[in-house]
Amino acid sequence: MQNLPSIVQGAIDAAGIQASDLDAIAVTRGPGLPPCLSAGMNAAKTLAAVLRKPILGVHHMEAHALTARLTTKNAENSHVPSPVFPFITLLISGGHTLILLAQGVGRYKQLGTTLDDAVGEAIDKAARGLQLSWATQGRGGPGVALELAASNGRSDRFKAHLPLPMSDFKRAKELNFSFSGLKTAMNRLISRQDLVDLTRSQDVNDLAAAFQERCADHLAAKLELALEQCRTLGLTALVASGGVASNQTIRNRLSVLSQRFGLPLICPPPELCTDNGVMIAWTGIERLQAGMVDDYEMTTMPRWPIEDLDQEHAHAVA
Ligand code: ATP
Ligand code: FE
Repeated sequence: MQNLPSIVQGAIDAAGIQASDLDAIAVTRGPGLPPCLSAGMNAAKTLAAVLRKPILGVHHMEAHALTARLTTKNAENSHVPSPVFPFITLLISGGHTLILLAQGVGRYKQLGTTLDDAVGEAIDKAARGLQLSWATQGRGGPGVALELAASNGRSDRFKAHLPLPMSDFKRAKELNFSFSGLKTAMNRLISRQDLVDLTRSQDVNDLAAAFQERCADHLAAKLELALEQCRTLGLTALVASGGVASNQTIRNRLSVLSQRFGLPLICPPPELCTDNGVMIAWTGIERLQAGMVDDYEMTTMPRWPIEDLDQEHAHAVA
């Protein structure tokens, strides 16, 4: 609440425009922590009402998903948003691990989600357990620190101690994720003094590499099921977004997989993978162009399944 006015003014100044030049105001409507959502919503409503501009409430995860359409240039290098619908999105962040079938703006089918921890949460816990430091790394801190350690390690040394999640016959066919078992296995491994010594950087690096590799294995295994299931739908791309999608090992794995299905892998640049304001603004543009303007009585949605977006719009136009 203290900083919003100067941030908004700073953005307008940096763009070299006047507030009156804006076409609309987009704001994160949910999901998220109620006090944070309210601070943004109040500021956005005030701006919109004073400037007499339309307001657009944005779903945080839709914004992660649609950023790819801002940052990809198509063959003619024109600014037609690409990839075109339908495409598969893997959203891997601090709070979510989702496989979505993106069918249009506001139209998502959730094919899979995590049954317990999000992948980013598990990565953060692993980085903490390994006592990595990330004070200087800013955004994406623990994940970036883990990736850096892993880049100096070998994954094969400890991989056998970290079983692939949901690999039993029945659960291997299920389109959901589970990262809590992997997290526990990692914790147990870290405390095995007969096997590892965290004062030795080689041990830390090898542990980080094994853990990162297992995360990639699990993500790829479930994504493969989703791609097989959607084979006949005319998919145009595989999109990976959210903070964890800035991990190069994970990107490489997804790239191999998408090639097998003849699809391009599209990932926003790392700075647009973790949370940012650009993705909210872009989603606002997409929704404005689709005529999905909200009214000033709009409320925040702290809990908001992404599949409900469809319904929300149906309700709004009814
Ligand atoms: P959500 O979008 O689900 O509400 P969030 O907004 O907190 O969660 P993001 O900002 O999208 O999440 O991503 C943060 C997560 O990404 C953190 O768990 C962070 O450790 C992880 N992350 C960032 N960079 C990397 C990287 N290079 N490798 C692995 N993980 C990373
Ligand atoms: Fe996020």
